[in-house]
Amino acid sequence: MSDLIHYRIEDGLALIGFARPPVNALGQPLRAAIIDACERAAADVRVQVIILYGEHGIFCAGADITEFGTDASFAEPDLPSMLVRLTKIHKPTVAAIGKLALSGGLDLALACGYRIGEPDTRVGLSEINLGLLPGASRNPSLPGIIGAESVLKLILSGQQIDAECARTIGILDRIATGTEQLLDEARAYANELIDRCASARPADAWSMPGQDLSADFLSLYRTKYEPHWKSRLAPRLVLPSLEAACLLPLDQGLSRELALFKHAESSGQLKALRHVFFAERETGRIPGIEEDIALRKVNKVAVIGAGTMGGGIAMNFANAGIPVALLDLNGEALGQGLMQIRKNYEVSVKRGKMTVEQLEQRMDLLFGTLDYDDLFDADVVIEAVFEKMEIKQQVFLALEKVCKPGAILATNTSSLDVDVIAATVSRPQDVIGLHFFNPANVMRLLEVVRGKATAPDVVATIMNIAKRIGKLPVISGVCFGFIGNRMLEPYAREAHRLVLEGATPAQVDGVLTGLDLKMGVFRMLDFAGIDVSFLIRNSNGAATAYDKSYCRLGVELYALGRYGQKTGRGYYLYEGHNCKEDDEVVVLAERLANELEVPRRPIDSQEIHDRCMFMLINEGIQLLSEGIAMQASDIDLVWINGYGFPAHLGGPMHYAEQIGLNKVLAGIQYYRDVLGEYGHMWFQPAPLLERLVAVGKTRIEII
Ligand code: NAD
Repeated sequence: MSDLIHYRIEDGLALIGFARPPVNALGQPLRAAIIDACERAAADVRVQVIILYGEHGIFCAGADITEFGTDASFAEPDLPSMLVRLTKIHKPTVAAIGKLALSGGLDLALACGYRIGEPDTRVGLSEINLGLLPGASRNPSLPGIIGAESVLKLILSGQQIDAECARTIGILDRIATGTEQLLDEARAYANELIDRCASARPADAWSMPGQDLSADFLSLYRTKYEPHWKSRLAPRLVLPSLEAACLLPLDQGLSRELALFKHAESSGQLKALRHVFFAERETGRIPGIEEDIALRKVNKVAVIGAGTMGGGIAMNFANAGIPVALLDLNGEALGQGLMQIRKNYEVSVKRGKMTVEQLEQRMDLLFGTLDYDDLFDADVVIEAVFEKMEIKQQVFLALEKVCKPGAILATNTSSLDVDVIAATVSRPQDVIGLHFFNPANVMRLLEVVRGKATAPDVVATIMNIAKRIGKLPVISGVCFGFIGNRMLEPYAREAHRLVLEGATPAQVDGVLTGLDLKMGVFRMLDFAGIDVSFLIRNSNGAATAYDKSYCRLGVELYALGRYGQKTGRGYYLYEGHNCKEDDEVVVLAERLANELEVPRRPIDSQEIHDRCMFMLINEGIQLLSEGIAMQASDIDLVWINGYGFPAHLGGPMHYAEQIGLNKVLAGIQYYRDVLGEYGHMWFQPAPLLERLVAVGKTRIEII
C-alpha cells in the first residue's frame, strides 16, 4: 500500500488515513491511493464501515494546485471518476473531517455517505479564488445534499464556513467534542451505523436538486450578480455548470461540467490567480532569516494614538484575543477612539457577524490609557500618531524610557523615514515600520518596513503576529511611500497629466475600472482624501519643483478645500454615496493647461491605459532593482490587496509579463519620444526593464 495512505482494520472498521503533508493535496498519486484503499476495504468481508480521515489534523485542502493546466490534472483516476467510484461503494463510508475540507477535499467528504467534523472544522469550495469551478461531484452529491441555492453561495463566495454552519446546511451530520476526540467519535458513529444496518448512503435531502428552483432562478441570479463579476470568467461558468448538475443525467452532467472546468482551466485567469496563490506563500520566506529563528513572545500589544488608524489597528489584536492598550494624549481623543471601536463592533453585531458577548469580550481586551508608564509590559508597541517626524520622535523617546528590553517598537508612518525614527532611540534593532491600510481592521495588506538596523527576529516575529491577526504581510525596504504609495505616485501623476492634456477624470477612471481595478485613480484619491495626498506629496516636494504640471489639478482642488468624498467635492461631486462628474473640474483643467502651456487634444483609451499602467509597472520594476521589494510577486500582492488591482490579472508585475516586457518597454520609449519635454522628464525606462528585454527575459526578476 502507498505511503500516502495509512490503512488498518479494527473491529469491523477500515481506517484510511491520508498522509500527504502539509494539506493532503489530491494529486494523482493520492487520488489513486484513496480509491484503491476504499475499494480494497469494500471487498474485504471483515470491513463493515470505512472511515476516511487526515493523519495530521487536516482532512484535505483540495486539488494539487501544481497539477492545474497539466495532464496530471486529468490523469486516472481523475477527481470526478474517483468520486463516482467512491459513491458506488456499497458499504457506509464516514468522513472524519479535521480542520479543513476544501474544494476537492469537500467533494471527497461529500462523496462519503456520512460526515463528522470537529468544532474547528472549516469547509468551503474555494476554486473560484483560483479562477476555477469545482471540477467534480456536484452531480452526485453537493446539490443533492444541501440544495442548489446553498451550493451557488458556497461556490461563488469561495469562502469557508465553520462547523456549525456546515451542520446547519447539511454538510456535517454531527460535530465531535474536540480534535482529540474526532477519530474515537467517528468510530462510535460508524458502530451506530453498523447497529442500525445503515445503507451505504442516506437518502439525499434534495434528491431533485433543481426542483426547488424557479424556472428563471439562474437567469435572475445572473442578472443580479453579473455586474460584480466584471470580467471574471469562472463565476459565469458556475451557473451552466450548476444547471448541468441539477438538470442533466449524471453522465451528461459530468461531461458538461468537465468541459466547463477545462474552459476555466485554460484561461489566463487561472494562471494569474495561481501566481497570486504562490506569491502569498513566497512572501513569508525572507532571505537571511532562518525559518526556525526564535521568535519574541507577543502576549500584549500597545497602540499609541486612538485616531482613525490606531483604533483600527487595536481592533485587529482584540479580534485575535490579544490584550491591547490604547494610549492617546488626551482623554477626549481616547474616549472618542474607544467609542468608535465599540461602534464598529456594533455594526458587526447588527450584521450578525458577531454576538453581543463577543463584542464585550473584545472590548474587555482593550485598555485605554493616558499614561506611558502603563506600557511597561507591552511586547509590541505600534505608534499611530500624527504624521510629523518631531512628534513621532518624541513618542519613540517616551517609549524608550518605559518599554521593557526587547519590546518591538513599530511605526505606522505612511511616508516618513523609518531609519530616522529608529535612530532616535538607543535600540534601533527593535524598530520596524508597520504600514497598515485604512480601514486597518478590514484591509488585509500590511507593509512591513524593514529598517537598516531592524533585527531579523523582529522581522520574523512581526511576520508571525501579522498572520495571527489575519493580515497579509509584505516586506518593503525604506523609501518614500514604501512599495504601494511609491508606485501610486507615477500612476497618479500620469492620470493628472492626462486630464490636463484633454481627458476627463471619469474617462481615465473608466479605463482603469474597465480593466477591473476596484476604483479609478481619481475616485481612490477622493476616497482617501485629496488633503492627505497633498500633504504627503508636499512634504516630499522634489517632484513638484521638477515638473510644474505635477498633479497640479490635485493641488488646485486642495487649495479650493475640495478634499474629496468627505467634503462632498473633489475630482467628482458627491451626494451621499452617489458620485457625479463635475464640469467645474474640467473647466479648471482647461485653465491649468492653458496656464502651463499644455496642448489639449482628444485622448483615447489605449493611451490612458498605456501611460498609467506602464508608469506603474516601470516604478515597480525600479523598486525591485533597488531592493525595496524582495521579489516581483510581492509588488503584485501589495497592489492587489492595498489598491484594488484585480487578482485575476495577477498584479501589475504579472500583468506586465502577460502584455510582454518588450511591449511595455516599447510603449515607454514611444511616449518618451512623442510627449516632448514632459516625455523625457518621466518616461525613462527602468534600467532593469531594459536589461530584461535586451536578454530576452519574459519574467521580471533581478539580473
Ligand atoms: P489621526 O489624526 O486620525 O489620529 C492621530 C491620533 O494620535 C489622535 O487621536 C491624536 O490625539 C493622537 N496623538 C497625536 N500625538 C500624540 C502623542 N504624542 N501621543 C499620543 N497620541 C498622540 O491620524 P491617522 O489617520 O490615524 O494617522 C496616524 C498615522 O497613521 C499617521 O502616521 C499616518 O500617516 C498613518 N497612516 C494613515 C492612514 C490613513 O489613511 N489615515 C493610512 C496609513 C497610515
